[in-house]
Amino acid sequence: PQQVLLEPLAVDVFATTLRGELIPPGDPSYEQHRRVWNGSIDRHPGLIARCAGIADVRSAIRFAREQGLLVAVRGGGHSFPGYSVCDGGMVIDLSLMKGIRVDPEARTARVQAGALLGELDRETQEFGLAVTTGIVTHTGVAGLTLGGGLGWLQRKHGLMIDNLLSVDVVTADGEFVTASQSRNADLFWGLRGGGGNFGIATEFEFRLHPVGPDIFAGPVFWAMEDAPEVLRFYRDWIADCPDELMTIVVQRRAPDLPVIPRDLVGRHMIAVVACHVGTVNDGERVMRPLKSFGRPLLDLCQPKPYLVHQSMFDPSYPHGWWYYVRACDVAELTNDVIDIMAEHGRRIVSPISSIGLWQMGGAVARVRDEDTAFNGRGAGFTFNINGNSYTADGFDAEREWARDYWSALAPYHSSVYVNFLMDEGKGRVREAYGPAKYDRLTTLKRRYDPDNVFRLNQNIPPAP
Ligand code: FAD
Repeated sequence: PQQVLLEPLAVDVFATTLRGELIPPGDPSYEQHRRVWNGSIDRHPGLIARCAGIADVRSAIRFAREQGLLVAVRGGGHSFPGYSVCDGGMVIDLSLMKGIRVDPEARTARVQAGALLGELDRETQEFGLAVTTGIVTHTGVAGLTLGGGLGWLQRKHGLMIDNLLSVDVVTADGEFVTASQSRNADLFWGLRGGGGNFGIATEFEFRLHPVGPDIFAGPVFWAMEDAPEVLRFYRDWIADCPDELMTIVVQRRAPDLPVIPRDLVGRHMIAVVACHVGTVNDGERVMRPLKSFGRPLLDLCQPKPYLVHQSMFDPSYPHGWWYYVRACDVAELTNDVIDIMAEHGRRIVSPISSIGLWQMGGAVARVRDEDTAFNGRGAGFTFNINGNSYTADGFDAEREWARDYWSALAPYHSSVYVNFLMDEGKGRVREAYGPAKYDRLTTLKRRYDPDNVFRLNQNIPPAP
C-alpha cells in the first residue's frame, strides 16, 4: 500500500469545496464505496472522492497531485483486474455523475461518465433509439466506451466508439478539453480505444439509431456433447448473415434461473445467443435455421423488447462473485478451434464459469483500422473465457481452467480486446494495440500525461 501522510488542512479545504462527497476510511459508507464489481479485488484506498461535476473532478485531480497520491478513476467499477480502486491513494469516483440527455431530433445523446449502460439504454429507448452498448446493464459507459465498446448492435451500427461524436476530458494537470473529429483530433483518436490513459472523461456525446422497441433475440441451447456439430452449423449459418444479426456462442453449465427448466440446471450446454435488430418478421426468418438445427434442449429465441434482451446476462454476472478472464481474438472458427472448444467446454467445473465467443465483422470491420486506437477490426471472433467462483473457494482451479482453454487456443490468437485483459503486463498491452498504434499512443501519452498520473489502467507509458 502507498503510505502517504495527508496534510489535514488541505484535506479539509478539499472536502469543504467538493459538491459531491469525500469518503475516508472509517466512514460508514467506506466499505460500500471501496468495493468494485469483481469480488476478488480487495483494496483500501486512502480517500474516495465522489465527484458531482467537472469542478469536483478538476479539484480532485489537482488535490491528488499536490499530495502525491496514486489515482484510480472509476466509472462503473467493472474493470476485470480492478483498476478502478487502489490501496492507499485516491479513487476519483464518477458514479454520482449520471446525467443523460437525448436529443430525439438530432438523434444524439449526451451522457455523463458515471452512467451505466442500462441507464443510457432506458433513456434512448424511450425515443425508439439506441447506441451500441455492452451486454450487461450494470457496466459503466465510461470504461466500456474508452476501450472500444462491443455489443449487440455492433455489426449493424459499429462499436460504441464508432458512434462517439465528442468527449469532455479533464487532463492530468486539471485542464478541461473537448475532443472530437474537429477539436483535439489526436486526443479523440486516442480516446477511442486507448482507455483511461489520457485523462478523466466527464461526458460523452453519441450518435443514436432507431432500434426496437421489439426485436427477435435470445439463446438456443444444445447439450455440450453436440458442440462440434452445433459449431460447424453455426459457422456456415453466419457465413453470409445480415449485419442485423449478431451472435455470441456461450459454453457453460445451465444457470439456476427461473427461465431454465429444473432438470437442465447444472447441465453442460452450448448456446448460440442471437440478436436480430431489424424487424421482428425479418428476425424470425433469419433465426429459423438456428432454431431448427439438431435437437435443441431449450429455445428462448423469440420476439422481445430490446431492453429485455439487453439485460439477459445480468443475473449471470452479479457484483461480488470472484471473476477471472482470459481473452483472445481468432480469425476464423476452424475445425481445430472447434475441437478445442468442444474439449474445454466439457471440462467446466464451476456452475458460474463460462466462455463467450463474440461474432465480429459487419460494421466493425468497415471502419478503417487507422481511424481509431481500437485494434482488431479484422478479427473474426473474440473469446472471453471466464473462470469464476462464488468466493475464494475454488477460484484457483477456475483460473487454471481458463488459462488452459486460452493456452490451447494460442496457435490461433490474433489480436486481443483491451477491455478483456487482466493485469497481464506491458507486453500484452502492446500486443493489444499492435506496435504501430502503441507507438502513436505513447507519443500521445507524453503530450497529455507525461508523468503517467493515469497509470491504473491497461497502461500506455509516455514515450521517452
Ligand atoms: P471501471 O472499473 O470503472 O473502469 C475501467 C477502466 O477505465 C479503469 O482503468 C478506469 O480507470 C478507466 N475509467 C473508468 N471511467 C473513466 C473515465 N471517466 N475517464 C477515464 N478513465 C476511466 N466490454 C464490452 O466491450 N462489451 C461488453 O458487452 C462487456 N460486457 C461486460 C460485462 C461485465 C459483467 C464486465 C465486468 C465487463 C464487460 N466488458 C464488456 C468489459 C468492460 O468494457 C470493461 O470492464 C470496462 O472497463 C468497464 O467499464 P467501467 O466504467 O464499468 O469500469
